[in-house]
Amino acid sequence: MLDTQQKTKTYQTYIDGKWVDAASGKAFETLDPYTGESWALIPECDDTDVNRAVEAAYRAFETGSWPNMTPTMRGKKLRLIGDLIAKHSEHLAGIEVRDNGKLISEMAAQTRYMPEWFYYYGGLADKIQGAVVSVDRPEHFNYILREPVGVCAFITPWNSPLMLTSWKLAPALAAGCTVVIKPSEYTSASLLEFMRLVIAEADIPPGVVNVVTGFGAVAGEPLVKHPKVAKIAFTGGTATGARVNALAAQTFKKVSLELGGKSPNVVFDDCNLEDAVSGAVAGIFAATGQTCIAGSRLLLQETIHDVFVEKLVAMAKQARLGDPSKPETQVGPVTTPPQYEKILSYIDIAKAEGCTCVLGGGPATKEEGGGRYFVKPTIFTGVDNKMRIAQEEVFGPVLSVIKFKDEEDAVRIANEIAYGLGAGVWTQSVKRAHNMARRIKAGTVWVNTYRAVSFLMPFGGYKASGLGRENGAEAIDGYLQSKSVWINNGPGGGNPFIMKTAG
Ligand code: NAD
Repeated sequence: MLDTQQKTKTYQTYIDGKWVDAASGKAFETLDPYTGESWALIPECDDTDVNRAVEAAYRAFETGSWPNMTPTMRGKKLRLIGDLIAKHSEHLAGIEVRDNGKLISEMAAQTRYMPEWFYYYGGLADKIQGAVVSVDRPEHFNYILREPVGVCAFITPWNSPLMLTSWKLAPALAAGCTVVIKPSEYTSASLLEFMRLVIAEADIPPGVVNVVTGFGAVAGEPLVKHPKVAKIAFTGGTATGARVNALAAQTFKKVSLELGGKSPNVVFDDCNLEDAVSGAVAGIFAATGQTCIAGSRLLLQETIHDVFVEKLVAMAKQARLGDPSKPETQVGPVTTPPQYEKILSYIDIAKAEGCTCVLGGGPATKEEGGGRYFVKPTIFTGVDNKMRIAQEEVFGPVLSVIKFKDEEDAVRIANEIAYGLGAGVWTQSVKRAHNMARRIKAGTVWVNTYRAVSFLMPFGGYKASGLGRENGAEAIDGYLQSKSVWINNGPGGGNPFIMKTAG
């Protein structure tokens, strides 16, 4: 476990297989969001470091051993990475709790599960297959090669930093790509520990995985613009994603985007009420609501609205706020000071829009279990789906309750939103479950459960929630490109001035 008595820890970053400071020598503080105190110093990288990291990744891709290693051998390396994560899972979870404020109960489960991504994509590494095509020409032998795209840049947010990095890193490495990672400036420490305990320990060749820590505009943008980066895998806010996408387009990079959400959690009156109440709480108060898949719009069928709200408030009221490193804590701090301010401002917006606050509605005091950046679990009823509190991502423990009449009404409200990341449906009717799953425009629909993820199930957004999918077998395609090879075993010749078609 992390030594919490230690004063300030100074990290270096990892470029080309070496531990280095930022070229400028600058470093910035990272906070423990529970106490609000700085606990570590992180190198403040800029375009010089980005250039060094991309050049290292490019060399490793063009002339290093990684892409030329047999896929079977790469698969074994990925499984070793998985084993090392398992070995250090407790330590990695502790660091993330310290830097991010996520609960130890959630983090311990996350880091214990993370090896599965490396075992799964490690297994896929030598199952990447091209094809032989019986092309429509005599005496031709045609085939398709599946090749790694090249240097990939990952840009990640502050919520679940290691897990979201694993979702990208495992398929990228399995495909034979090399990588530069820019973690969030708020939560860089767990990735640096991961590099030390896992990547360096697994003896992954220099330049294959590099890290540039620092701020979005200073370290992120040069990475997105760098001509030797072939692909950007970005997870973060929708506005940042739009900017990253526009910048990446200038140099024709492949892009995958995992962006924000405002997911509907839809409860019908034929549901199992106790399960649905628990599912509504899981949807919005787990991870202090700081999750892209938060079920932040609770759609309640009008016939059960009042009884449901009563049960929901009773359960949410019991949530234990406190120190995220204690296993009994259920709601931890908000991770960043700007996010704390943003959540409070949305509570004001909801009040100004005329919603009724039936629980919480402001900062949590020390007596209520709060630390430096705590917001009480907050529930607003009387929300209209057109209001800002219903349409905009808050990314905090603030729930908007919206009434609906019937299935048609539920589908309409669920889909009248710019986002399309997740959705929950609570019903005992099989027919309704399948119909809702088909009609809701979202990358994931959970029926009678919420916030479940697996390395086996594709994850990503419809509409403004993103481009592309992570997880599942298809995710590896995002790190590969096809090459068509034509071999003419017959005579040459023919009219050189016309295209060689079959006709
Ligand atoms: P953010 O968009 O502010 O930052 C994300 C990353 O982008 C950070 O590393 C940041 O430094 C970097 N960045 C910022 N400006 C940049 C620029 N101009 N060029 C390049 N990089 C830049 O997001 P955040 O506040 O860290 O995270 C919260 C957001 O992430 C929420 O909107 C949430 O919904 C979303 N998110 C989505 C998923 C998903 O899988 N869909 C998962 C987690 C979080």
